[in-house]
Parts: sequence; C-alpha cells; structure tokens
Amino acid sequence: MAEQLRLMAVHAHPDDESSKGAAATAKYAADGVDVLVVTCTGGERGSVLNPKLDRPEVWENIATIRRAEMDRAREILGVRQDWLGFVDSGYPEGDPLPPLPEGCFGLMDPDEAAAPLVRLIRSFKPHVITTYDEEGGYPHPDHVMTHKISMVAFDAAGDASRYPEAGEPWQPQKLYYNMGWSRKRMMALHEAMLEATGESPYTEWIKEWDDRRDVTDRVTTRVPCGEFFEIRDDALRAHATQVDPDGFWFAVPLPIQQKVWPTEDYELVKSLVETRQPEDDLFTGVR
Ligand SMILES: [Zn+2]
Repeated sequence: MAEQLRLMAVHAHPDDESSKGAAATAKYAADGVDVLVVTCTGGERGSVLNPKLDRPEVWENIATIRRAEMDRAREILGVRQDWLGFVDSGYPEGDPLPPLPEGCFGLMDPDEAAAPLVRLIRSFKPHVITTYDEEGGYPHPDHVMTHKISMVAFDAAGDASRYPEAGEPWQPQKLYYNMGWSRKRMMALHEAMLEATGESPYTEWIKEWDDRRDVTDRVTTRVPCGEFFEIRDDALRAHATQVDPDGFWFAVPLPIQQKVWPTEDYELVKSLVETRQPEDDLFTGVR
C-alpha cells in the first residue's frame, strides 16, 4: 500500500488559503492526500471588504464571523484546518507608517512564534510544506512573519535538540513558496481578456508594474488544477466579509483562466529528495 501523503499549507489569515494555492490543495485533497491548512492568525484586524456586509454588527463580531467563514471554506476545499492562535497585526497604512499593535503576530520573535508550528509539523508529519516568500508575497507584516516561522519550523522540526517540548522530531521533505502572481501569468490573463472582451481588470496593475518584483523566473513547479478553480472561487466567496463577490478576484471568467493558465505555481526552495525541474507535482521525488 502506498504511504499516505500529507501536505501542509501555512497561511497568515483566514481567506489566504482560498486565494493562494487553493485549487492545488483542493486537487490534492480530492486525490487522497491529507491536506492541513494552518492559519497563523484569527484575522481579527481584517477589514470588511464586501460592501454588502459593511455593517456595524459585522464589524463588532468580525473574529467570530471569520471563524465561521473559515469553517465553510475548509469544507468546500475538502481540507483540514488548524489555527496557531496569533493575533492579526492589521495592515499598516499611512506616511509615516503607524507602529504595529502590541502583542500582534508581526511583532513576535520568529523563534518563539515557530513553536506551535513545530508542534503541528511533528504531529501532522507533512511531507511537503507550502508558505510565502521572504517578502510575504505581499508586504503584510503577518505574511512576512508567516514566512519567517515556516523557515524556522521546517529546519527545526526534524531536530530533536530544538523545541524538545514540541513532540517527536519529523523532517518534512520539501518546502515551497506560493508564486501566484508572476508577470508572465498576469500578462497572459490580461491579453486573453483584451482579446475576448476588449478590457482587462489588470490594466492599472500592469501600468504600475515594478519589474524588480517579478517572480516569473522563480517558478519551478506548476501544478495543473484548472478543474478546481471553481472550488477555489467558491471557497474564497465563503470568506464573505473579505471579498466582494462582484470584485477583482472574480473578474476573469473561469474558461479563460482554465485555457490560458490552468496551473497554480510554486517555487521549490528546500528539498531533501531528488527532483528534476520543472516539476508539475509538489510530491515529485516523494511519491
Ligand atoms: Zn492575509
């Protein structure tokens, strides 16, 4: 009998698991892989981004509502999910930037904040972990801290001398960064939209594009999962306070996405197994 494969996807807030690598996790879950989404914070400082839900009673109960939204998204994706229990830092805006709120995730010492993740890795025993790149994918302090604790935990989980209180050592085999927003992908979708409809939701974005931030050349692994894009979108819509169902995220029709870019993309950053790039499977070399 083949060994049960396990995938851990580490995310900062409830809703990130539904916008970054969501279709790939749904696909792996459907294929029988045990998938655990880890959510570092409760999303307590998220804004209400859906105009239809921008009401005082929603703002007052945002933490509870976001937990219920997460439950629904988890069911839609067919994955398991666990919380690390850290407090959302909020997204600082202004010039100068305001200080982060006391006690928030973004201000933690990464070695300390990695402890519950090490514990979860040692109990769940993932073969593969996905997380964000060193800039967090986008510069939210919680995303950057998610990156930091993932790196600490990947290296420490297999080392019995570190975090001795956190259970028996387990060494994951591969670590990936989510690489969803390469310029190449954006341009492909942009051009397909122009051709199909004469307009594109990415026009402004592309005009302001900064090439230094392009991750196109970093992609090592493209996981085919176009048939799960609809599930991904359903899961994202389950985070009803966080996404406008008529907004940007859903602006490109699924058939265009499935034709032009039917994969979710990753950068392989650490591997303890032999693999050849480019890959089309996060478990290449592990299976
Ligand atoms: Zn987030």
